[in-house]
Amino acid sequence: MDWMEGNLMRTLVTGGAGFLGSHLCDYLIKKGHYVICMDSLVTGSLDNLKSIESDKFLFIKHDITKYIEIEGDLDYIFHFASPASPVDYLRYPIKTLKVGALGTHNILGLAKAKKAKVLIASTSEVYGDPEVHPQNEEYWGNVNPVGPRGVYDEAKRFAEAITTAYHKRHNVETRIARIFNTYGKRMKKDDGRAIPTFTYQALKGADITVFGDGNQTRSFCHVSDMIDGIYKLMMSDYVPPINLGNPNEITILELAKYIKKITNSKSKITFHPLPENDPKTRKPDISKAKKILGWEPKINFEKGMEELIEWFKRIFF
Ligand code: NAD
Ligand code: UDP
Repeated sequence: MDWMEGNLMRTLVTGGAGFLGSHLCDYLIKKGHYVICMDSLVTGSLDNLKSIESDKFLFIKHDITKYIEIEGDLDYIFHFASPASPVDYLRYPIKTLKVGALGTHNILGLAKAKKAKVLIASTSEVYGDPEVHPQNEEYWGNVNPVGPRGVYDEAKRFAEAITTAYHKRHNVETRIARIFNTYGKRMKKDDGRAIPTFTYQALKGADITVFGDGNQTRSFCHVSDMIDGIYKLMMSDYVPPINLGNPNEITILELAKYIKKITNSKSKITFHPLPENDPKTRKPDISKAKKILGWEPKINFEKGMEELIEWFKRIFF
């Protein structure tokens, strides 16, 4: 139901100035929510929000690891605040741990006080370098807590644990989305993730930097499919963690060659050391999302990449 007792639903999006959060703000405004976007701008940017013209939107600059105060009621909280790309969370290891732990704790306390339903953005990284393929929700993961990715992976694992505890102990209405690699407009050209990095390098004619031999795999989901799945999950009554992603799996070398081809680029593909603990494979098992949410991705990769490349050309060249 998009309207409650004749009032607008009031919805908080943490990390709303980031890549996924800003698309979520756009989507929620279209759905008729009054959206409060809270962000510290540590990795996000107000540029991502500049197309929002609605007066049903409020931006609050705030670090959610500090006490959060929101006036009035809240119906929903989408908790997306966290550095998310490997380059970002390695640059901000303590901030990443703090937002996953202290930030999530504050958000759950807020949800409890306001009797709001809360969805947290977890990640496929909870599976670490997986020994089960494709990854289903029953798999507990293979994470090195003291490896470079530990700051992100363990923060998200803690976030899942405390979210589950607030549901069980305090009856807070919780949802946990395990989000797999997502791509689309508003990714930063320098955030280090494979798709924006290769796209920028290819368009610039710079070397396309493949790590390792490029045989590691990922499965990429278009942002509009992801936001649709996240909204459906929030509106469902499903409490345990659920995978959201596109099972369309490719190797990183195939990705580099594909981007070089569709951009007609003269760039060379070069090989560099594989970062420590870089997962060798990743592909979501989305049977639960299909069955429980009636959701599956619709945008094919070629179409999604065409859109991203056009956007990169317009914004960065
Ligand atoms: P992003 O870096 O673009 O956005 C994160 C936002 O959170 C930024 O705007 C940042 O400034 C804000 N933020 C960080 N710490 C904060 C704090 N303490 N207080 C307030 N704001 C803070 O990243 P993204 O790709 O949009 O990811 C959003 C969420 O989705 C993250 O929680 C991430 O872990 C999760 N996720 C993303 C992907 C993906 O492929 N993009 C995959 C799995 C999970
Ligand atoms: N990658 C790469 N070159 C780059 C950036 C990334 O080969 O310039 C690889 C990276 O090592 C990983 C894959 O691409 O194996 C996906 O990396 P990304 O940072 O996009 O996401 P994540 O590793 O978090 O899934």
